[in-house]
Parts: sequence; C-alpha cells; structure tokens
Amino acid sequence: MTAASATAAWLGPRVAALSMGRPARRDERAQRKLVSVRDLLLLKPARYEDRSQIKTVAELEVQERAAFVAEVRRPRGGRPGRGGRTFLCDLVDESGGQLTAVWFHAGPWHKRELESGRRFFFAGDVKPGKHVGRVIFNPEYEEVDDEPEAGGTSVHFGHQVPLYAGVRRARALRRLMGQVLDRVAGEIHDPLPDALRESQKLLPLGQALRELHFPSAAVTPEQLERLDTEAHRRLAFDELLALSLILARRRQGFRTRVGHPLKTDAAAVARAVKALPFKLTGAQTRAVAELVKDLASAHPMQRLLEGDVGSGKTAVAAVGLRLCVESGLKGALMAPTELLAEQHGKSVATLLAPAKIAVHLVTQTSGGVDSAGAQALERGDPCVVVGTHALIQSAVAFRKLGLAVIDEQHRFGVNDRLKLMAKGDNPHVLLMSATPIPRTLALAVHGDLDLSILDELPPGRMPVETKLLVGKTQVQAVEALKGNVAAGQQSYVVYPLVEESEKIDLLDATAGAARLRKALPGARIALVHGQLPSKEREAEMERFRRGEVDVLVATTVVEVGVDVANATLMIIANAERFGLSQLHQLRGRVGRGALKSRCLLLGKSPLSMPARRRLKALEKLNDGFELAELDLELRGAGELLGTRQSGLPELAFADPQRHLKLLTVARDTAFQLVEADPELQGPLGKPISEGLASIFGDRRSLGSVA
Ligand code: ADP
Ligand code: MG
Repeated sequence: MTAASATAAWLGPRVAALSMGRPARRDERAQRKLVSVRDLLLLKPARYEDRSQIKTVAELEVQERAAFVAEVRRPRGGRPGRGGRTFLCDLVDESGGQLTAVWFHAGPWHKRELESGRRFFFAGDVKPGKHVGRVIFNPEYEEVDDEPEAGGTSVHFGHQVPLYAGVRRARALRRLMGQVLDRVAGEIHDPLPDALRESQKLLPLGQALRELHFPSAAVTPEQLERLDTEAHRRLAFDELLALSLILARRRQGFRTRVGHPLKTDAAAVARAVKALPFKLTGAQTRAVAELVKDLASAHPMQRLLEGDVGSGKTAVAAVGLRLCVESGLKGALMAPTELLAEQHGKSVATLLAPAKIAVHLVTQTSGGVDSAGAQALERGDPCVVVGTHALIQSAVAFRKLGLAVIDEQHRFGVNDRLKLMAKGDNPHVLLMSATPIPRTLALAVHGDLDLSILDELPPGRMPVETKLLVGKTQVQAVEALKGNVAAGQQSYVVYPLVEESEKIDLLDATAGAARLRKALPGARIALVHGQLPSKEREAEMERFRRGEVDVLVATTVVEVGVDVANATLMIIANAERFGLSQLHQLRGRVGRGALKSRCLLLGKSPLSMPARRRLKALEKLNDGFELAELDLELRGAGELLGTRQSGLPELAFADPQRHLKLLTVARDTAFQLVEADPELQGPLGKPISEGLASIFGDRRSLGSVA
C-alpha cells in the first residue's frame, strides 16, 4: 500500500451511516456536517472537562461541575412538561450523601437503564434544589461496569473529557470518536517525515488525533484550558505547513516567470525622487530602494508596501510608475473605489507632471478611458492608467504593462491580483496597504510577498486628539463644528455605510446634513455619498479641496484617499458600527497638515463592551501598527485576515501569533521543499503535500499556484 492510499483508507469511510445516537432535531444539521472520518477526527473540542477526580456524593458542592459515582434509588417519572416527560431518581453512595437527578425530555431508555440499585458514573452541574437538597439536571451517565471502550478505559470518565460545541449528544459522539480512533489511529499515515517530526518534537499524527480527543494524563489542565497541548501543537504545525506550501508555491511560480526588467539606473532613480514636491522620509527612501531593486529584475516583483495612513505610499508608487513609463512600458494603479481612483488619478498626475507623463482614468462610470487616453493606449504609448476593478474587467489593452500597483490591497482578493497580472505579461506587482498587519501575521498570509514597511510619517504631523462621546452628542458636535468653521478650518462628518442598509445610511447622512444646515446657518455644507453621480461627487469634493466647503457630510466614501491639509475636525457618527481599522483610516483624513486636529467619535448609548474597548483604544492610540495588534487581540487572526478572501485555508488549530516559532519552521520547511521540488511531485514533496491536502484541504488549493 502506498502512503497516499493508506491515507485515503482512513479518510474514506463515511461515518454518517454510523449512528450518532438519536439526534435531536436542533442539532441534526450540525451532526450531518460530520461526513467523513477525517471531519470527525478533526472536530476540535471546544473545551475539556476534568473528570479525573471522582468525588463522593457527600463532597459535591452546589454550582460545581462534578463527576462522581452513585447508585440509583427511587427512579420515577415526573410530570410531563412542555418538552415531554421528566425522569427523576435519587443518587446515593457510601458517603451517605444524596442528591436528586432530573432529566427533561426523558426517553424510554432513561427508565430502562436507570434502574434502582445500578451504579453509574455521573457528570453535570450541581444546583440547589427548589425545595430541598441538591439537584443535578440532565447529567451524563455511564454504567460503571459498562464494557470499557477506548483502550481499556472509559471514554467518558476518569480523565479529561472533550466537549464539542453544538453537539448535544456528546456521549454518542465521544463513543463514536473512541471507536473510530481504535479502528483507524494505527493506520493513519503521517504526512511528515520522521526526521522533521522528531526535530520539532511533534507527535505522530495518529497519536495527536487520539490525544486531541482523549488527552493523556500527562497533559495539564492549564494546557487544556488554553487548547494548547502537544496534540494541538502538532495539528497547528500541519496547518501552518499546508498554508506555507501554498504560499511557497505561489512565490516560486512568480520567481520562475520572466517579465520586464525596468531601467533603474541610479541617475533615473535620483531624477524621479528629486522631482517629487517633498523630500522623502527615511522609510520612503528605504522602500524606494527595495522597490527599485525588484523592478530591475527580469522576474516579476511581488512586493507589499505596508504603511500607516498618511505615511506616503503614493509617492513610493509614483517613483515606480515613472521608472516604468521611462522604460517604455505602461503602469497601472488599481484602487477599490471610484472616489479613491479619482483621487489617485489626480495625485499621481501631479507627482508625475514634471516628467510629462500622461495619466488616464478607467472607472465604471468613466465608461472606460477618456478618448485621449484611449488613443494613447491604442498607440501603445507608455503612460499610467489609474482605475477601479474596471481595469481588470475592461478591454483595456495591457500588452506592455510593466508595473501594476494595487492600493488598499486587502479590499481585493488574491484572484484580482492574479487577474491583473494575467492582463499584462507578468508585470511587476506592488501591493499597498494602510491596514498594517502585525509582522507575524504578515508572514503567515503574505508569505509569498516581499515586505516593505513605512514606519515613519512625513515630518510635522501631529497626533489627532481623539474623544469618545456617548449618548446625546448633538450639541457637542455642533459646538466643535462651529469652532472649526469660525477658525476657517474644514471638517468632515461621516456616517457609516453598511452595505445591506445603504438607503438607511444615506437617510442618516441626508438628515444629518439638513440638521447641520439649520444649526450652522452661515456654514457652507456639502453632502456626498456613493449614490451621487461621480461627476457631481467629484465636483463637491473638488470644492472641499479648494476650501469652498466648510463641512463635508459623507457616507464612508471619504474613508480613503481624501487629502486636505486644512481639514482638522473629523466627526464620526454611530462610531460603534465601524471596525477599528476603518475608524483609524477615517481619522487619518485629518491631521494631514501642520494644524492641530481633532476626531470626535459619537457612540450610540448604550455601547456594547467590545465597541467601548475599540473606541476607547482609539482615544489612546494613534499608531496604526499598535491598533492592528489590538485589533488582532480583539478579533482573532482569522477574522482580521479574512483568510477566505486571501484564498488561503482557515486555521482551526494554528494561531500565527501564539505559534510564531512553529510558523517560522513551517515556512522554512515549505520554502526548502518547494525550492528542491517546485511541483511537489518528488519522493519527499509528494507525500507531504498530498498528505496535508487530504487532511486540511482539497488538493487543488494546495497544488495550484492560484
Ligand atoms: P498614504 O500612505 O496614506 O497613501 P499618501 O501617499 O496619501 O499617504 O500621503 C499622505 C500625504 O502626505 C500626502 O499629502 C502626500 O503628499 C504627503 N507626503 C507624502 N510623503 C511626504 C514626505 N516625504 N514629506 C511631506 N509630505 C509627504
Ligand atoms: Mg493611500
């Protein structure tokens, strides 16, 4: 039997046919999800219960989750309740203690099994009785002289016992788990070579799966509490290795392609940098150097430029775009929204004006390219094209695309990147993100990319003073706006835009603008939102830019890209509805010049605890990286990364932060494997990748570059 078929053998049998007991209707769906032995064994226990200490009945205290052995006395049926019959009995032991057990929704088996004089293990919560004594509701039970089930011990008692989320028939599931493990654990093929496994002190896979469900006595309650045992560690490693193999293959795929080496001689670079209207920061200078080195290579660059809001990523991109055009090729810049594309079109045009480089806009509403642009593109003139998704959807010819820049990359899926690459013939790709991801995570999800970080803001920026106001905030908000208008400075008032309720939000913003017009009679107030035709919206934005509007009321269209130094007040309504990074981005619209800026977060009372924590954090922190770390803590890696969007498998066992060391090993291993065996079809690579794929995902996602 080959390794792969041995793996298939234990994955094969479907357990849906194996009875899970009598499923209650409510959790039928959850149980149906368990279709294969693999799914069953990888079902991660939500927590564990310590049933290693068996107490006497007399020792049991109220409110405690207890495991004990007792004899049944006086079994009796109770009154039929709403959900069915109730079954009761008394439980006693030699200690002289006694308590009452009650089962709601009792079945005929309760009466059959719980006969007077028989002894059982029981587990459950002990509660004070309504009238007297102690009661235990719906305890799990198991006859003491039951046939031992897993390896000579009970699967339910005498040790740490797994509890699974959303599974009511825990006993049936646990017993099934024990049976399946007994049958297949010995046959489970371990995809990891022994040497690797031993060097990292990882459990064999079969053992890890057994210990996941039936932890050995050596495991401490603290480890179980943290869901961080050797078994968890082993499975985390496999997940991280599977993930890293995908990234390593993607990266290898780019490395072997041949694209467009750009002309990047020192003089050209110096000229491009000098033409910018400001002196680059140290961080920008470093990023430009890293970028330029990649652009000179024949292999397409895959670089991520990470930098806080306002750190000046556009300027770095502009240097690249200029070098690209000067090498006789086209450059493209893709942004997630029309507004941002329009903004970029403007700022890139300004930055590249000294070089007399044409910049064309391609958005949905521009219906393609302006006619001058179209001609330029047709003639194949080197130029810069700025646009939205329309860039990858349109028929715009990209034959000589040298560099593709993707701004706000987290708003795009990995497929968009690949599509844009496919449009040209292997252009260099620069991804930009203002949502800084902690380095550890960046390594995990962007492992196929090289990383440049702008960890420095242009000089003269002052932190934005941020304040959370809850409840009746109208008066304070109006006061703040009045002050700002009087000082000749501009303000934003932003309403959240939640996709499903776009109309309501628009109403909010419209009503908000009307209220403000009343409250601030002299002020010039404009309203912009996503449903405004882009021409009108752009006209309003332009008026704001020119200082002809004092207060810009907006739905989140201003989230990205607006750049007005005289805007010094940001008011965010219903701030509790925004995520941390979005709030930080919005706040980044002010504090862009030398003037002291403020941000008011208006929260709706009562605030939920998580919302309060988020908003309070913004009062304290101004640094995007610190906020990202906090966001990670609050929301967890999976949600923060949107792994689905990134086309990567979800991590159930691995936590890139906690398992940083493992991640590093997994990465190194994956990259070495792919280096030696790019297709993963060799004697070492094939069993690992196939084994992991059969455990953690479908083969296609592990095996293909995309
Ligand atoms: P982001 O990284 O958020 O995209 P931008 O590229 O929009 O930031 O830059 C924010 C603002 O800072 C812009 O007004 C830009 O002109 C300005 N800027 C960028 N780099 C510098 C610099 N080195 N010195 C001064 N101002 C700069
Ligand atoms: Mg930007």
